[in-house]
Amino acid sequence: MPSKAKTPILEVTHLKQYFPVKKERILEAKRYVQAVDDVSFSVEPGTTVSIVGESGCGKSTTGRAILRLDDPTSGTIEYNGQDIAKLSKKELKAFRGDIQVIFQDPFASLNPRRTIRQMLNEAMSIQNVMDKTKREDRMLELMDLVGLPYDSLERLPHEFSGGQRQRLGIARALAVNPKLIVCDEAVSALDVSVQAQVLNLMKKLQKELNLTYLFISHDLSVVKHISNRIIVMYLGKIVEIADNEDLFQSPRHPYTQALLSAIPIPDVNVKRTQIDITGDVPSPINPPKGCRFHTRCPFATEHCRTVEPELRTINNTHQVSCHYAETLSF
Ligand code: SF4
Repeated sequence: MPSKAKTPILEVTHLKQYFPVKKERILEAKRYVQAVDDVSFSVEPGTTVSIVGESGCGKSTTGRAILRLDDPTSGTIEYNGQDIAKLSKKELKAFRGDIQVIFQDPFASLNPRRTIRQMLNEAMSIQNVMDKTKREDRMLELMDLVGLPYDSLERLPHEFSGGQRQRLGIARALAVNPKLIVCDEAVSALDVSVQAQVLNLMKKLQKELNLTYLFISHDLSVVKHISNRIIVMYLGKIVEIADNEDLFQSPRHPYTQALLSAIPIPDVNVKRTQIDITGDVPSPINPPKGCRFHTRCPFATEHCRTVEPELRTINNTHQVSCHYAETLSF
């Protein structure tokens, strides 16, 4: 069913993020890593949008720009209709509370010398969340929300398992009542069964607290269970955007199909067209002309090598960047 249009909580328009490359010779021309190149998408409140692709596709760089950890080379990022590059000091503080992040490595993102109580207290005091006495109740509430016992508050991060630490990462993000959470490979370091538990917890919290997630992952099978919409990126560009079901049932880009064909299907009666892509992702310093995927695409033609495909709308929830999106069938 097509998604109903709502006012986006996040709107990314023509985002470019280029990083200068250190010169090796004085007369060498200036070169740039084109980490993100003209990326546009929006996220509706209360939904999960996932960005998927191999390492180096620009997904985490996009996340960093949204968190305002890097200033974009060009393009705009609007949060609730406000350009985040133009926020006043006061607005920026509120924005930092509204948008939280959960990282891949829960241990690295938790201070090993601080108890969970100190960590949560600090997060809440920076954002002036409640007075001291109310914070006590809030901390207990947070332990309930993420399914950890109350005595966890007195313990240090190394005393928890990987899945529990990720629950603590979620509790810390929730401590300041965020609206949008960027989950950067948030479950990638976990075992499959623990991954499922954390994803289920995140889905439950989303419903209860009306949270919006921007989920960044290299693994399409992980985002399938949590996403409303999926963005597939390759070498700094979006190659396909679609609603979850549409993407999994009718992928239109060969790269998406290649990612899908790498996911094992538990049912032996269900067959999926196998697309094997060989070779490495080309350098983002000097990306291929034409379609950036042509060096690895089994369907590439001369046209693909010279003319860059636009991201085109093929139905009201699905956009693809491939010259042959309508004719290729997988
Ligand atoms: Fe492959 Fe050509 Fe489509 Fe690019 S435009 S994905 S090279 S068929």
